[in-house]
Amino acid sequence: MGEKRILSGMQPTGSLHLGNLEVLRTWARLQHEYQMYCCIVDWHALTTLYDRTEQIGPAAREVAADYIAAGLDPNRVSIFIQSHVKEHAELHLLLSMVTPLGWLERVPTFKEKRENLQLNEESVSYGLLGYPVLQAADILVYRAHAVPVGKDQLPHLELTREIARRFNNLYGEVFPEPQSMVNEATAVIPGLDGRKMSKSYNNAIYLSDDADTVARKVNDAFTCPTKIRKTDPGIPENCVVCQLRRVYDPVGYQTSWEEDRQGVRGCVQNKRELTDILNALLDPLRARRRELLSDPESLTRYLAEGAERARALASETMQMVRKAMHL
Ligand code: ADP
Repeated sequence: MGEKRILSGMQPTGSLHLGNLEVLRTWARLQHEYQMYCCIVDWHALTTLYDRTEQIGPAAREVAADYIAAGLDPNRVSIFIQSHVKEHAELHLLLSMVTPLGWLERVPTFKEKRENLQLNEESVSYGLLGYPVLQAADILVYRAHAVPVGKDQLPHLELTREIARRFNNLYGEVFPEPQSMVNEATAVIPGLDGRKMSKSYNNAIYLSDDADTVARKVNDAFTCPTKIRKTDPGIPENCVVCQLRRVYDPVGYQTSWEEDRQGVRGCVQNKRELTDILNALLDPLRARRRELLSDPESLTRYLAEGAERARALASETMQMVRKAMHL
């Protein structure tokens, strides 16, 4: 394992889906080369679930189980819950003092969230605006060298870099400027309705779905609208089932696409085969997550050990920060 550190995290706002799994698979590859800190950011989840906080704890454990089931080794990677490492909150507070308000108001995801959730002045919380500062604290408290991000997250990481630069200029070099690791090869997984798969759109296949649920969802998926009968020539580019087939059967999909175009295979066969492919992918994952969730003590132990390793590094950083700031 190398000396370079990576921080990454997901919110416990619901079960993880196939889109999230793509990201977890990237993390699982990186764990062999980097020191990884994989956080479950429950404080971030409060920006939307502040009135349903009872959902966050159980969801956080499920996300932990998903991390491990997707291939992260809890003995190699520090998997932990953000609120178990209080140093994130202290650094968030200190960074908030050196972050100009204008920087936060300009963040595109803030504007989007405000519009998508149709938030009025009253319901835009101080915490929602400060979300990227908390994210900066999550990253900088581990003096992370790199962060694997989706393209949508790049503005947040840029802000983290600006905050780090500002802090270093004011108080002396404490933080490395974290680099983004955008994996161009990571597929954006389409949801069952053709939009990006997302828990917000009710179009996702979840890692927690059983085999019958996967079959039902695939059966209802959006297919090429001009292919009514099996013999009609299909346009695989317009069919969610064909798109998913390409991701999860990167070699075999070509023959099925060709047959689809020629009108010698129908949607029923496409759906049946995709169901089998997805269930073969998800079966071992489902077994592992079931095993983890049915053994709460082991999961609690993994999370406690992860938090302990994270805390050791975070408290070292906070000593440097307090010293630099004369606190
Ligand atoms: P959601 O859209 O379901 O709320 P999140 O925003 O919580 O998902 O995303 C968590 C991580 O999963 C992010 O790194 C994001 O880029 C990635 N991700 C989410 N949806 C997809 C998708 N459909 N395809 C690929 N990656 C995705």
